[in-house]
Amino acid sequence: MDHFNYHDGELHAEEVPLHRIAEQVGTPVYVYSTATLTRHFGLFRQALDWTDHLVCFAVKANSNLAVLKLMGDLGAGMDVVSGGEYARARAAGVPGERIVFSGVGKTLIEMRQAIEGGIRQFNIESEPEMRALSELAVSMGAEVPVAIRVNPDVDAKTHEKIATGKSENKFGIPIARARQVYAEAAELPGLRVLGVDVHIGSQLTDLEPYRQAYGKVAELTRVLRADGHAISRLDLGGGLGIPYRRDNNAPPLPIEFGQVIRETVGDLGCEIEIEPGRNIVGNAGILLASVIYLKEGEGRDFLIVDAAMNDLLRPAMYSAYHDIVPVAEPALGEELQAFDVVGPICETGDTFRKGVELPALAGGDLVAFRSAGAYGAVMASEYNSRPLVPEVLVKGDQFAVIRARPTFEEMLARDSIPSWL
Ligand SMILES: *Cc1c(COP(=O)(O)O)cnc(C)c1O
Repeated sequence: MDHFNYHDGELHAEEVPLHRIAEQVGTPVYVYSTATLTRHFGLFRQALDWTDHLVCFAVKANSNLAVLKLMGDLGAGMDVVSGGEYARARAAGVPGERIVFSGVGKTLIEMRQAIEGGIRQFNIESEPEMRALSELAVSMGAEVPVAIRVNPDVDAKTHEKIATGKSENKFGIPIARARQVYAEAAELPGLRVLGVDVHIGSQLTDLEPYRQAYGKVAELTRVLRADGHAISRLDLGGGLGIPYRRDNNAPPLPIEFGQVIRETVGDLGCEIEIEPGRNIVGNAGILLASVIYLKEGEGRDFLIVDAAMNDLLRPAMYSAYHDIVPVAEPALGEELQAFDVVGPICETGDTFRKGVELPALAGGDLVAFRSAGAYGAVMASEYNSRPLVPEVLVKGDQFAVIRARPTFEEMLARDSIPSWL
């Protein structure tokens, strides 16, 4: 459920009619709903209310400071994958004790930054990284909490670019080698090994892969404890999918996900961490765009909008589906036409979707790309020197710009021409 609905003949974000945002901020623009974010975070919390837990928002899904502040104030932890994300989480007021650091290529600079600023745990992804962190911690006189990410070799049944739990993927340590790696970790100074971490992919629409992966984690935890390791924490990752199409079978709910966790690892007495990103923020955001031209082609009509692949990369990168709807509510029984919805960028890949059924639209009309709150703005670029897409946060009948569109002057000022040129 989200808070983008038609009333009074127009699509609203909570109580704000979208034309008002378009008028004040211009398009394209991302629009997020605080009520939806709050609701989705609450569902994960509720799903784990049977145990000691921390829901760590996956910052890479949406890293706007206002979104992070909202999450942090609700009590969320943060899952970060870079020094930049760590800095954002801290700037949003989240204490280091609620931040976990994931990622296969943490640099010494990033690890130092997190040790100095405070960290709940590093999720270690390889032996070289484990040794580097140990050396660094010793040199800083610190002892850092770590979990080791295991790769359970489970097929997440999702898009190949976002599957992370198969043995051929770059993530984690093969679960078959985990015992040996934990044994080495226990000997390394500066590390306090307290957990097992797993994350098998994104946009999962089936609970079975989770059941398999968490079953393996439970088995491993028992073995590790028998080996003498004090495993008190399980980080079970994120990845729960969202319904991108309104008409198709909805993915499992957070409460069902929580049930699988309970059934697989619930008896181990571990503190549970999860790292949902997309499921919290995906359907809490839309991308609002204006039609520039309706262009009649050979056997097809193109709707050229002012959003492009640099603003929303998912269709070009993952062939991802987004519902595209008119902001003005179509009349009941209004005739629909098929359009190829495209952006202005000079690449054929800049096609959002072909054959979208829409009412007759004209230049200046507004359209909304639904389910665009996750992996939308964070992947935006200034390709074709299009200003970085702005973001707006709505709460009830109020809204605020939470990232302004840069002016051309600001964009140009980032470059410099050497004096010798
Ligand atoms: C991307 C990622 C997540 C979040 O995935 P979602 O599909 O957005 O829930 C969580 N943990 C790790 C380690 C990730 O890389």
